[in-house]
Amino acid sequence: MPENSSAYSGGPVRVRFAPSPTGDLHIGGVRTALFDYLLARNTGGQFILRLEDTDRNRLVEGSIDKIYESLRWVGLEWDEGPDIGGPHGSYVQSERVESGIYADAANRLIKKGLAYECDCTPERLERVRERQRATKQAPGYDGHCRTRDPQELADSRAAGNPIVVRLMVPRGRTANFSDEVRGNVSIKYQDISDFVIQKSDGFPTYHLAHIVDDDDMKITHVLRGEEWLPSVPRHLLIYEGLEIPRPVYAHLPVILAEDRTKLSKRHGAASALDFRDAGYLSGAIFNFLALLGWSPGNDLEVMSREETIAKFSLDRVKEAPALFDRSKLEWMNGTYIRQITVDELVDLAIPFLESGLPAHAPRPIEAARVRPLIAMTQERMKTLAEAPEAIDLFFEDAINPTPEELIQKKMDAASTASALETSLNIIRDFEPFEPEPLEVRFRALAVELDVKIGALFGSIRVATTARKVAPPLFDTMVALGRDRTIERIENAINSLESAAG
Ligand code: GLU
Repeated sequence: MPENSSAYSGGPVRVRFAPSPTGDLHIGGVRTALFDYLLARNTGGQFILRLEDTDRNRLVEGSIDKIYESLRWVGLEWDEGPDIGGPHGSYVQSERVESGIYADAANRLIKKGLAYECDCTPERLERVRERQRATKQAPGYDGHCRTRDPQELADSRAAGNPIVVRLMVPRGRTANFSDEVRGNVSIKYQDISDFVIQKSDGFPTYHLAHIVDDDDMKITHVLRGEEWLPSVPRHLLIYEGLEIPRPVYAHLPVILAEDRTKLSKRHGAASALDFRDAGYLSGAIFNFLALLGWSPGNDLEVMSREETIAKFSLDRVKEAPALFDRSKLEWMNGTYIRQITVDELVDLAIPFLESGLPAHAPRPIEAARVRPLIAMTQERMKTLAEAPEAIDLFFEDAINPTPEELIQKKMDAASTASALETSLNIIRDFEPFEPEPLEVRFRALAVELDVKIGALFGSIRVATTARKVAPPLFDTMVALGRDRTIERIENAINSLESAAG
């Protein structure tokens, strides 16, 4: 049995997502925030956002706004947080330092003989490290100041030396605790050395600060990446020393890229906003991330937000690494694109069209103008970033397919030119100039000419779009308009004739 169990006894949870504003919000962080959010909404509890910014050297300007933007884009609204306040503010750690809560906690630990002040210089620490390397010992603080003479320490402080506070780690013990994802876990204290809980600038380290805050904010569950699991023994010592109950732990599985290494920038898009900018829909990302390490227990893949909230539970979170399968994400995004209305899709696609359509397409891009084109391509589009390429053929003045592209299987230049000539004559005065009747007429034409439908349609498609794959052929013709269709087919015939000499 784990010696150390939590005080939670069911009911609505209070969970927090506690990012450090040290750069872009990685998709792994968003997955943690999502699981927090799902658990909070599933139990009718609260989802809290807290900024852990006590490591002043690692702060990156602008990252706080990116955290807000990323979470809001995915749809993870928080109930308490830095920008909206709440009963346990401030929700920014650096703003809490002044109140003295962290220093009080450190002092309580010192008074109980569980922590101590240390004035070891970086030079001394380096000498210790060298010695450990030479004797093949695990690196770590050697406990020198555990028995430091109080007078010497006072003199050192008076001389202006930097002083940190370290927690005393009982080397002989083992930490036994339960984790909602990993079950019972045992980790020996053997390789953990006395670690810093308060820095010389008076700021707490993460280890101390998050515990004081989680207690103050009445957090019942701590969900975070599994890279934090090895730190739990340290945290249990602090809980024990401060005599506060610990929260329920759930350490979420690592996310691996397809090459089986931890997903990172190296693998391309890695932050939530990268995915937005690459044309993924918020709903698809929400759905996809929910399945990274969790499953509803059946084959259900595409799920609405409400369904996901209703089904979510920690006991279906898996321990095994979660594979970030990009082709599955693309597929899922495609299903989300097909689920929205054409007007919604047009709104989402316009920013991509503004930047992606050729310069001669008139700006600003008008919704009414692109709507019929987008409607045609909705079925096939996997990301919004594909929108410009899917419709740019309608904005080209002239396209110049080569004879090789125009000539289909079992055809030659002469038969292709003559099939296109006949097609042209039909197109010139065909009424009504609408997709369905056109299709019926051209299917009949293939029979009349004794060529395969695929070959005839293929030549016309290349002639009118210069592509092998394009939106449905007759929709394309109608969207191009009769005149431009004629112009493009004439152009194709000329190129076949000049090639034939
Ligand atoms: N600030 C820590 C991080 O950014 C939070 C870890 C935790 O959730 O306890 O990873």
